[in-house]
Amino acid sequence: MGSITLSKVTKSFGDVNVIPPLDLEINEGEFVVFVGPSGCGKSTLLRLIAGLEDTTSGKILIDGKDATALPPAKRGLAMVFQSYALYPHMTVRKNIAFPMKMAGIPEDEQKRRIDNAASALNLTDYLDRRPGQLSGGQRQRVAIGRAIVREPAAFLFDEPLSNLDAALRVGMRMEISELHEKLATTMVYVTHDQVEAMTMADKIVVLQAGVIEQVGSPLDLYREPKNKFVAGFIGSPR
Ligand code: ADP
Ligand code: MG
Repeated sequence: MGSITLSKVTKSFGDVNVIPPLDLEINEGEFVVFVGPSGCGKSTLLRLIAGLEDTTSGKILIDGKDATALPPAKRGLAMVFQSYALYPHMTVRKNIAFPMKMAGIPEDEQKRRIDNAASALNLTDYLDRRPGQLSGGQRQRVAIGRAIVREPAAFLFDEPLSNLDAALRVGMRMEISELHEKLATTMVYVTHDQVEAMTMADKIVVLQAGVIEQVGSPLDLYREPKNKFVAGFIGSPR
């Protein structure tokens, strides 16, 4: 579960082509990071995988099946939004339950999944609080909890830590990596932060202007960057 294949995928907005034909293989259980400067197409690529944008051409396969024309809800993937996307008037429990309620999952099953997610994310003691009564890191965990309970084939993260302060970011980075180990589910993670990419990824995809400059493990990219862009991007200080 959780393999994703992009085959000759392109995306244009009007006359502007932001993703030229692109091929990419994401394997089951892999932690894949898309990294590159602002505007290079990371979010667009993630949104194409999620189904939040339609491809202009090309194919997207999820677990070997053609998902190119499927709506987001039918793809079996969960997008983790930044923590500010929580409902402020609902408790943590209700925030996490919301997608399951929408999907018509029975209440006892909802409760089982909430308990599991809360325990995986150390949120058990916070289920009756509202987002306003939580720290930034706790709020981010609730946002992740809302994705976990859908039991997706893959998690898609778009710069989930960008609105946290530096110290919290380091902690959350480790928590997401630990969660990946616990769940062994595919994670696709977008960031413009080289350190996040190097510390979290099994596989890094370096993008520039919609083009994949290099795909490889952090060590591959560090030892044998294919060009100056990759070398500069991976090597440059923050
Ligand atoms: P990143 O996430 O790497 O910062 P994006 O994927 O958001 O980059 O954007 C890639 C390019 O596509 C940018 O030039 C951006 O302006 C353009 N773009 C993204 N979404 C739209 C849209 N809905 N309409 C027009 N242009 C868009
Ligand atoms: Mg973006």
